[in-house]
Amino acid sequence: MKLYNSLTKKIEEIELLKPGVVTMYSCGPTVYWRMHVGNLRAYAEWDILHRAFLYLGYDVRRVMNFTDVGHMTDDDDFGEDKIEQAASEKGKNPTEIANYYIKTVIEDFYKMNYLSPNGEVVKPNTDIHELGKYGWARATEYIDQIIDFVKKIEENGFTYETAQALYFDISKYNDYDRMFKQNLDEKKVGAREEVEVDPQKKNPADFVLWMKKVGKYEKHIMAWDSPWGVGFPGWHIECSAMSCDILGEKFDIHTGGIDHIPIHHTNERAQNFGAYKHEVVKYWVHNEFIRTPKDEKLSKSKGNALTLDEIIQGGIDSMDLRYHYISVNYRVPLQFNWEALKGSRRARLSLLKKISDLNSDGNGGSLLNNYVERFEDLLKDNLNMSGVFALISELLKSDEKPENIVQTILDFDRVLGLKIYENLKTKEELPKEVEELLKKREVARKEEDFEKSDSLRDEIEKYGFKVLDTSEGQKVERI
Ligand SMILES: [Zn+2]
Repeated sequence: MKLYNSLTKKIEEIELLKPGVVTMYSCGPTVYWRMHVGNLRAYAEWDILHRAFLYLGYDVRRVMNFTDVGHMTDDDDFGEDKIEQAASEKGKNPTEIANYYIKTVIEDFYKMNYLSPNGEVVKPNTDIHELGKYGWARATEYIDQIIDFVKKIEENGFTYETAQALYFDISKYNDYDRMFKQNLDEKKVGAREEVEVDPQKKNPADFVLWMKKVGKYEKHIMAWDSPWGVGFPGWHIECSAMSCDILGEKFDIHTGGIDHIPIHHTNERAQNFGAYKHEVVKYWVHNEFIRTPKDEKLSKSKGNALTLDEIIQGGIDSMDLRYHYISVNYRVPLQFNWEALKGSRRARLSLLKKISDLNSDGNGGSLLNNYVERFEDLLKDNLNMSGVFALISELLKSDEKPENIVQTILDFDRVLGLKIYENLKTKEELPKEVEELLKKREVARKEEDFEKSDSLRDEIEKYGFKVLDTSEGQKVERI
């Protein structure tokens, strides 16, 4: 596998620390709002990477986090804690807010057919306390490990303490800006508020490892005891501590959005070095953003920071959005507007129609090895997804046997995750009873008789089918 490493700024052949096993950490969401289309893109790209490794026969050990404390507004040391801010706005406590939004992440992952870090698609009603089993790590459940990690950095002499916080001293790490060259003096501009909050902070680019529950943060609700007093961890230290605790002091791949490069990942890398005096992550891999026509930043006020549910209400299926994300390489800025989404929808439906027109569900077919090999080569080539879709078009036009074509495409769908089989028109007929129940349920839904529609759903389940309500109406899947 070749990937673009943001640290060396080159496409590199991935050499795993342990042959056959991929260790990977993906920066996960800060759980204070419903993810928008920009957040969702990142997880689509790393889902493809995860699935590609599995397809190629690797064992994948992956971790993704939920940040539920310490992530400040504007990524500023002295902003407001995003979770606590959302909690006070909504009159809830921070745990309630985090729990609520963690559930929405799992729901969105399910609808988008994203693997959880352990390689399963987790069902939306899964108990929130069970998510650790699926490879999710929640920051507030790792406070002890975070404190231990900070202690290592402190013992190695990379920190200093003020009345307000414990800081990482970037002057102690001369390789600090290797991933992102920056004029550190410029960071002094706009740091006025910092001076007010903590006049003892030496360099504006130094960053908080542990914030004390004093001064501006006297009323911070989430706080723990520590060697530096009662307080809470900084956002960057959480990812360093959780990744190393679970994956070890060296691991292969760290993913995130390009916005993480200048601060979050630069700081993570510094902390890792502070704790272990060596590079922890071999390959830093980042996805590009989605772009709006006017190149505006996604924001609620501009109405372009749409959530998945808003996209679905607009007549776009979650699989259309998935298709939109995965049809290009992770380093390509992706156009995002309704027209582009409709284009992806048409492309996906046309792909499904071409497959359905072959009148085979792949049964009895065999894999076309020459196509499989080319597919694998395209994946290994820095996830050449436009190449993958071109290959599929070529395969559909070929004069191979229909059942072999379909069988091969369904095999590719283990990586694409577009649920092609479930959407094929030619697949097995539904039992008559299920057809009848679906019709009745359609009527009940139109009449907004949800009690009846739920009981019909339960009846359908007894036949071994699960009903999904999508923008295209009811769909059934085998349980
Ligand atoms: Zn992170």
